[in-house]
Amino acid sequence: MTEKIGIVGGGIAGVGAAWSLHRAGYEVELFEKGPALGGNAKTFRWTVDDGHAESPLLVVAWPQMYYHNYELLLDEVGVGIETLPISYFVQTPEGHFCQDGQTAVQKRFAPELRRWRKLVAFITKVNDFFLPKKKHDSLYHFSYFNPMNLIPLYWMARLFGISSEFWDTIFVPIHCATFITTSMRGVPAVILPLLESIVPLEEPTQMGTWRGAPRQVFDRMTEPFADKVHTDHEITTVRRRNGRFTIGDAKGRTYEVDRVVFACDATAVLNALESPSWLQRLLLSNAEYVDDVDPSFSRFVIHSDTSIFPEKHRQRILSDFNTYSEIDEAGALECTFVISAQNPSTKDEGVPMLVTFNSKKAIDKVQKRIDLPHPTHTMSLRNMIIMSMIRFLQGKDGIHYCGTFTTPEGGHDLSFMSGLVAAHAIGAPYPFSQDNSDAVADFKQMQKMMLTSRARAT
Ligand SMILES: Cc1cc2nc3c(=O)[nH]c(=O)nc-3n(C[C@H](O)[C@H](O)[C@H](O)COP(=O)(O)OP(=O)(O)OC[C@H]3O[C@@H](n4cnc5c(N)ncnc54)[C@H](O)[C@@H]3O)c2cc1C
Repeated sequence: MTEKIGIVGGGIAGVGAAWSLHRAGYEVELFEKGPALGGNAKTFRWTVDDGHAESPLLVVAWPQMYYHNYELLLDEVGVGIETLPISYFVQTPEGHFCQDGQTAVQKRFAPELRRWRKLVAFITKVNDFFLPKKKHDSLYHFSYFNPMNLIPLYWMARLFGISSEFWDTIFVPIHCATFITTSMRGVPAVILPLLESIVPLEEPTQMGTWRGAPRQVFDRMTEPFADKVHTDHEITTVRRRNGRFTIGDAKGRTYEVDRVVFACDATAVLNALESPSWLQRLLLSNAEYVDDVDPSFSRFVIHSDTSIFPEKHRQRILSDFNTYSEIDEAGALECTFVISAQNPSTKDEGVPMLVTFNSKKAIDKVQKRIDLPHPTHTMSLRNMIIMSMIRFLQGKDGIHYCGTFTTPEGGHDLSFMSGLVAAHAIGAPYPFSQDNSDAVADFKQMQKMMLTSRARAT
C-alpha cells in the first residue's frame, strides 16, 4: 500500500518535500496555515494605474553561484531566471555610502575598509584550513572544528581595529536586509567570506531572481497534486495511534497519515506534538527567532511613498538601488526594499513599489501594513548547535523535520534542500540528474548535516 505523508507548512521546505515525495509515488497531504503557499516567499498584488501587478515582496533574489539545486528546480518547473544587479544605499546623518565610489562617508572609513579586507582574508584562510578539500563554492560545507563557528564576527572585527561606529554605520545598514534584524553581534565569524562573496561591502554585485513572481514556482510544483494542498489549515495537533498519525487543524478537521514531515517553525512543531520527548522539548523550545531578540524588523509597510528618500538622491535610488537604509540622529535604522528597481517584471509598471521595515517616518500611499508573516530564524551559535542535533530526532517514530531550524542559515536553497533531504529519508530519490556534480555534492552535504550516518545508510 502507498504510504501517505502529511506535510505541515507550505513554504519552500514543505512544498519541496511534498513535490519530491509525490514524484516518487507517495500520497501527500500538504497543510498550510495561511491563505496561499510560499511561506516567506510572498507574492504581492500591487494596485497600479491600470489595474494590478504582482511582485516578490520579501524573498527577492538569490546568489546564483550557491543556489545549484534551487535553479535546477526552476528549470524543471519551467520558471525563467533573470540576473539582477544588487546595490545598497546607506544614508547617515553625515552623508551617504553606496558601494559605487568615494563618498565622504567612504573616505572617512577608508582605513577601516582596508582592515575589513584584511579580516575577510584572515577568516577565509582559517576556513580553508579547516576545509582543505572543498571542491566548489558551497553554502553547505563547513567544519564543526573551526573555531570561527564559536567566535562572533563583531569580536573579530574589533580585534582587527574596526570600530563599533563602522559596524553600526556600514555593516549593519547593509546586512540588516540579509539578516532581517539590526542585532548582529552574535553572528559567527565563519560566515564572513560567504557574506562578502554574496554582498560585498564595497562593490555592487549580481543575483538571480524569478522572471515574474514567486507564486508561479509554488503553483507549478503543486499542480500535479493540487487537490492535496490544504491552505487555511493551521495544524494544531499531531497524534500517534497504532503506528499512524491523526493530524488536526484549528477548525477541528482531521486527516490520517502514515508519517509526518514538519516544515513549519519549531514553536509550531512543539505546540502540535501531543507528548513531546525531552529532546524534542529541549531542541524545539530553544530554536531562536529574530523576534525573540529584536522585534524592530518584524513589521513592515508596503507603499509607494518616495518622499521617504532624500530629495537629492531620490531618482537615483528609485532606479539604481535595491535596498535603502537610513540611520537617524538617534542611531535608529529604517530599511526599504526598492522592489520596483529589483524585479524585472515590475520595473516598468510606473508605480514605486517599496517595502519599509522599522519605519521611522510617516508613510503615505500605503498599500498594506504587515507583521512579518513567519518567524525568521537567526544565525547564531545556539541555532547552529540545535541544527546539528536535530539529526537525532529525524525519522524517529515516523516524524521528519525540515525548514529553517534544520539548516545552518536562512536561505531559499537551504530550506528547499532540507525538504528534499527529509523526502529522501522517507524513500524519495534525489529528484535531479546526477550530472550536476555541484548540486549533488550540496545535497549529500545537507544530508550529512541533517541525518546521522546510520539514517543516511538506511
Ligand atoms: C524578510 C525576509 C527576506 C528574505 N529574503 C531572502 C532572499 O532574498 N533570498 C533567500 O534565498 N532567502 C531569503 N529569506 C530566507 C527565506 O525566506 C527562507 O530561507 C525560506 O523561504 C524559508 O522557507 P521555509 O519553508 O523553511 O519556511 P517559511 O517560508 O517560513 O514557511 C513555513 C510555512 O509554515 C507555515 N506554518 C507555520 N505554522 C503552521 C501550522 N501550525 N500549520 C500549517 N502551516 C504552518 C507558515 O505559514 C509558512 O507558510 C528571507 C527571509 C525573510 C524573513
